[in-house]
Amino acid sequence: MKEISSSEFELEINAGGKLVLDFYSTECPPCDALAPKFEGLAQLYGNDIRFVKMYRQANRELAEKLGVKSSPSLLFFEDGKQIGNMLSGGIKRSEIIHELNNMLTHDRVEAIKSQIKPAVSEFDVLILGAGPGGLTAGLYLCQSKVNTVLIDIALPGGHVSTTHEVSNYPGFIDPQPGYLLSHNMSEQTKLCGTSYKVAVDVTKIDLNKKEVVIDEFETIRAKKIIIATGTSPNLMGIPGEKELKGKGISYCATCDAKYYDDKEVLVIGGGNSAIEEADFISKFASKITVVHQFDSFTANKQAQEKLFANPKIQTKFGFEPRSFVREGDKIITEVEDLKTHERSKLVSDGVFVFIGMKPNIDMFRDKLELDSWGYVNTNEDMLTSMSDIYAVGDVISKKYRQITTAVADGTIAAISIVKELS
Ligand SMILES: Cc1cc2nc3c(=O)[nH]c(=O)nc-3n(C[C@H](O)[C@H](O)[C@H](O)COP(=O)(O)OP(=O)(O)OC[C@H]3O[C@@H](n4cnc5c(N)ncnc54)[C@H](O)[C@@H]3O)c2cc1C
Repeated sequence: MKEISSSEFELEINAGGKLVLDFYSTECPPCDALAPKFEGLAQLYGNDIRFVKMYRQANRELAEKLGVKSSPSLLFFEDGKQIGNMLSGGIKRSEIIHELNNMLTHDRVEAIKSQIKPAVSEFDVLILGAGPGGLTAGLYLCQSKVNTVLIDIALPGGHVSTTHEVSNYPGFIDPQPGYLLSHNMSEQTKLCGTSYKVAVDVTKIDLNKKEVVIDEFETIRAKKIIIATGTSPNLMGIPGEKELKGKGISYCATCDAKYYDDKEVLVIGGGNSAIEEADFISKFASKITVVHQFDSFTANKQAQEKLFANPKIQTKFGFEPRSFVREGDKIITEVEDLKTHERSKLVSDGVFVFIGMKPNIDMFRDKLELDSWGYVNTNEDMLTSMSDIYAVGDVISKKYRQITTAVADGTIAAISIVKELS
């Protein structure tokens, strides 16, 4: 693979043919996560497509000219023209393959596919999920010299990485930006020596065999598995939601509130997340309407008082959304008055949905004993109903789901496993 600078860019592009360019940076965890995938694909596709890298910090002007806003970013070129989609951030191997395959004929794609050799690796412990629970387990295991791999479908950090501010994690006098807290947690575990396989596609989980297949070709086996897959936001499950998800309907204020500067938004929900996030969104939006099905919020009193004192926020109690439709730039939310059953329409620029969470257990739901809400049952060592399979953090049956309780679970599972393995 070739490293080029901006002065060589024109020459490289004008040479024609097919080319993929990686704008990378140093001290960039997503770039570290991409590097082995890019190398591996360069070997596979290298006869058909040129793989080149450029150090973004030293070639800022060109990066900006090409619309590169974050590292890493992958750009695809054919005969001097930029084609396909630019990929940025936590880039998955499957996303790159998709773009590369679009540049080749069907026959070449099949020929390259046939060259992919399955890979197998073995570890003492495999942790699924690199949120606070998984990262803490990884840290304790690593410090006990247990050979451990952390696998995540996204970049490390879990929910903390998209939380605006964390003010209740002990050890910090001032509130910490969530992305920074999760970055520090992840770096601590990584620097210790835990293997990372992040932003991957988890294609198969076999808890009986204690093996996980990632990116369709790499099998990872372990003596023990820790499930730390956390939770995902509940969807409303009403018409229009699927179509407008990410296109006007959001489930993450930290990620998307900035797009609503001086705009009007709806917030659906009445628990802590909805109320705290509505307050955060008010830093950007000019008007927020909180729609809640009950007559009062279930969020804590302090958060409610702050919300009621916020002049940008109004409330609509006793209403439930029934459908979403886009009309031009606006989202039309049809709501039902739960007392009169009359329906009306609310017009906004965007909608944020915070109506609780569900455990991420789809790939092994029928293998483990669950509680009546679908969370994984564990004993006090964090062992599940299957031997050698542990679970920690928000995915388990428990009363309070917080960063501190997730890191506590991770600690307990790791110490229990270290004792078992020794
Ligand atoms: C908006 C919001 C604000 C919050 N604010 C606070 C706060 O201020 N203080 C506090 O203490 N708590 C807060 N919490 C709760 C806290 O974030 C969670 O309790 C904590 O992150 C749980 O950690 P976890 O490791 O169990 O799961 P998560 O943080 O959910 O991490 C799970 C990880 O597993 C990965 N994953 C999912 N499925 C798979 C799979 N199949 N294979 C591999 N990996 C997978 C995910 O990508 C993710 O990285 C907040 C939560 C939210 C949603």
